[in-house]
Amino acid sequence: MKPFYIYNTLSRRVEELRPLRPGEISLYSCGPTVYLPQHLGNLRCYLCWDFLRRALEFNGYRVRQVINVTDVGHMTSDSDSGEDKVETTARAQNKTPLEVANLYLKRFQDDLASLHVEAPELWCRATENIPAMIDLIGRIIAARYAYVTPSGVYFDVEKYRGKNRIGRLSRQSLDEQNAGQRLSHSADKKSPHDFALWVLNQPHHMMQWDSPWGRGYPGWHIECSAMAMKYLGETIDIHTGGMDHIPIHHENEIAQSESATGKPFVDYFVHNAFLIDKEGSKISKSAGHFPLLSDLSASGFEPLAFRIFCMGAKYRSELALSDEGLRGAQSNLEYFREFARGVPADIAAEKSDTEFAGGYRERFHEAINNDLNTPQALAVALEMVAEAYRRGERRVWNTLKDFDSILGLELGAVRDASADIAPEIQRIIDERTAARGNKDFGRSDELRAELEARGYEVKDNRDGTATYRRRAT
Ligand code: AMP
Ligand code: ZN
Repeated sequence: MKPFYIYNTLSRRVEELRPLRPGEISLYSCGPTVYLPQHLGNLRCYLCWDFLRRALEFNGYRVRQVINVTDVGHMTSDSDSGEDKVETTARAQNKTPLEVANLYLKRFQDDLASLHVEAPELWCRATENIPAMIDLIGRIIAARYAYVTPSGVYFDVEKYRGKNRIGRLSRQSLDEQNAGQRLSHSADKKSPHDFALWVLNQPHHMMQWDSPWGRGYPGWHIECSAMAMKYLGETIDIHTGGMDHIPIHHENEIAQSESATGKPFVDYFVHNAFLIDKEGSKISKSAGHFPLLSDLSASGFEPLAFRIFCMGAKYRSELALSDEGLRGAQSNLEYFREFARGVPADIAAEKSDTEFAGGYRERFHEAINNDLNTPQALAVALEMVAEAYRRGERRVWNTLKDFDSILGLELGAVRDASADIAPEIQRIIDERTAARGNKDFGRSDELRAELEARGYEVKDNRDGTATYRRRAT
């Protein structure tokens, strides 16, 4: 197996991935809080982990991915204070929390489907896993890292951190880590840095469950620890999330999990950088206005163009949303599709490709194994198609389909849908593509006329590509 390298936030280094079980990877991705639609920034996050999962599968790993759904306990501030986000929407929209969560989860999953983000092996909802959380809190109390008070069960952060009080993941002191956060100074907490594992005596809270400490609800952080361990084991290979989760959410997840088990919780923490808007600010729900996938569709960009747009930046690099970038992605999407449509049946049935495809396969594999360098991989795929066009050679199809297991454009289905284009017609289309590439518009128009005379519709797209279909008779 080729080595796979990935940046581990725990060590701040690119490391070779060494899974706990040979050939298998457990992958936990922090999921959405389902109280508003997921914006393009959130969707970038899940695209990154879709690329990661597919890249691992390209390498032959079996990946067990779990994504949670936060439908209770995430307060308007990440450090416990404020209102429960799902309940805030429920009150505002006069719905039950369950209705709110179902509505936004469904929208999110529909968006993922149109982006060709494959569903994880398991979606797990916080409200359906309360016993696992109660069990884990019991273990943390037994290990003496949590204490029970009338307002809740709190994690004793200072005891866990010890003298130097520096976080393993953020490398920040507690004061730095919580700077800018409005810490809730419940009189019951031993320290303002302590956070709630279980919240008690909040009669206005709509979602409540019985526990050994009284009726209440879980804190947001314990949900992820409990579900990750329940479904993937006490130590997992890879845990993902956005960079905003480093200082609080993931730091707290490590503290809770490791104080209960005495074992490492996660071997590789992998974080994505933000999608930022045209003004350079992080796209976030708290900003009030945030772009959605449906906004892109309304501007004429397909969801798959957004997929390619995100693939064009490394997961660890900030990415600025831009019309120019999206136009480029939309045109690359059409470029791949046009090539796929032109693959004739005899070549599609062949098992092996022409020789020069091998070098591209090497470079593509190298790129994805090098800390998930998707922009490089995308460039290699485009270059291969360009060379194939130049040589008038479509026997790179198997290689392109393998690349597509990560690109996720379903090019096989695109080709099959256009399979009624006869080989002699395809030759004319290829000649026209070349003429257009050389700006020989006179020849391109002659060939258009010929195609139309033979019963084909020709549509020249604004991005420079063209679509050909047999006219319905
Ligand atoms: P939330 O529903 O707010 O918990 O966010 C779901 C995921 O999206 C989390 O892993 C966040 O870190 C991530 N995320 C939020 N905003 C952005 C953004 N602008 N760019 C990339 N990822 C983001
Ligand atoms: Zn989480």
